[in-house]
Amino acid sequence: MLKRFFKNNRCLIVIFCIMIILSSCFSGIVAYSVSNYNGITIVIDPGHGGRDGGSVGVNGTIEKEINLKYAQVLKERLVRSGYRVELTRKTDDGLYSEFASNKKMSDMRARFNIIQNTNPNLVISIHMNSFGSPSAKGALTYYRNGDEASKRCADLIQASLNTYCDAPTRQGKVGDYYILNCSYYTSILIECGFISNPEEERLLNTKEYCEKFVEAVYSGILLYFGNSNDYV
Ligand SMILES: [Zn+2]
Repeated sequence: MLKRFFKNNRCLIVIFCIMIILSSCFSGIVAYSVSNYNGITIVIDPGHGGRDGGSVGVNGTIEKEINLKYAQVLKERLVRSGYRVELTRKTDDGLYSEFASNKKMSDMRARFNIIQNTNPNLVISIHMNSFGSPSAKGALTYYRNGDEASKRCADLIQASLNTYCDAPTRQGKVGDYYILNCSYYTSILIECGFISNPEEERLLNTKEYCEKFVEAVYSGILLYFGNSNDYV
């Protein structure tokens, strides 16, 4: 009786076994990604977007484009190490409504809403700097006045950037920016470098420097969250 059942349903049994094997594989992947999460959520905010291109480099770098690139590379680095990361802007487009009379405010409100809905442990806004004198160079990390946690984070990331990226010796700076003031979350804004400086603009556009820069920011983040031993 049993023998006849196996004989008649051989095909079904094979399909059933394949399904069992596949489902155990997929549950393994899900279990891995859940266990990989280190409990820290970060919002990365690539500055500008859409009709707001930001600064333009001496050799034509569009700030909104390079901001997005740095944000994406930083996101990949953090996700690989178990952080949950949300980008405010995932494409070239701005976040404003086409119908808004004040598109800048509409864009900033949308970024604020993403931050609020994500409830992050840290917000990092990414920008590129520009100045009249072409000799100005190096990264600058800003925090909102009077916020000790944001100051500590900005100082650690700035110190890491000074070391890794051979930047002029600086500390975190007080900055009066909407993205820093709009919420009570720990928030910093990084001006990665000056695209008004021809040499720094060239450097910022190389894959090697971008990766080195991101590694420096990552190292500062690890120190801020107090698990510097995990640094790899
Ligand atoms: Zn900017």
